[in-house]
Amino acid sequence: MLVSDMHMHGDYSDGAGRLSDFADGAIEKGLMSVGFSDHAPVPVENTWSMKRSLLDEYINEANEIKTSGAYGIDIFTGLELDYIEDIDVRGYIGFEGLPLDFFLGSVHYVYSRRLGKHMEVDGTPDEFLFLVEEGFEGDAGKVFRTYYNNVRRMIRKYRPKIAAHLDLVSKNNVNFRFFDESGKEYMAEVEKTLDAIKENGVIVEINAGGMSRGYMKNPYPSGKILERCRDKGIRIALNSDAHRPADIAYGFCDIIKQIRLMGFREIMVFKNGEWTAFKL
Ligand SMILES: [Zn+2]
Ligand SMILES: [Zn+2]
Repeated sequence: MLVSDMHMHGDYSDGAGRLSDFADGAIEKGLMSVGFSDHAPVPVENTWSMKRSLLDEYINEANEIKTSGAYGIDIFTGLELDYIEDIDVRGYIGFEGLPLDFFLGSVHYVYSRRLGKHMEVDGTPDEFLFLVEEGFEGDAGKVFRTYYNNVRRMIRKYRPKIAAHLDLVSKNNVNFRFFDESGKEYMAEVEKTLDAIKENGVIVEINAGGMSRGYMKNPYPSGKILERCRDKGIRIALNSDAHRPADIAYGFCDIIKQIRLMGFREIMVFKNGEWTAFKL
């Protein structure tokens, strides 16, 4: 499979496995290139991002593996960079000076004015219920509007090449329990966000992380959002968001079949340090 997988997490953040194990895993899956993208440190306490004190070690180790030539495939050093409202995440990690090949832009947090804190949108079902009920006065619409507003700010401020798990806010919205993802109000937010993505030349990733970890049947983003990407001519890429080496390229063959049926004819892959169209 001559494609790349540029989204994965090992021991440095919330995944399991050394970076070298992930490089081995990518070879086993027959990938052309692989990108390390552990969660960048953030100045908000959580259980999943890299410790600030480990950042240099992470980048050094990734760059050593990359330049060792021991793996026979292209290896790239990256980060998954969070946008958090009113917090300078880039300043906190000295982002501008880091020797990275790429980064993924993502949003995991929304700020609750009522509780005065940043809250994760991709927690457990109980945590999401608490977020809606206590953090946003029971108004799930306010949660997704805040979330997509943050995604648009992330797109405009960070101008990432890739937007990670675009509709992460829907993680716990099984059977549209909290909001109607085909409804006008929700899709209006999606449209505005896709317009910002198109304007800034950002690639939308199809992210299999929820599938490999067993809490989603389909990848992010939803089929309805992918159809809008197709209609707007927004480019897409496949990423596993693997949290262990065995999940690299998870479901890629099935996903390629599905998106071909939807009318996509190419995906973007990371080749020789650049994003290149690959014909399906
Ligand atoms: Zn993420
Ligand atoms: Zn991730």
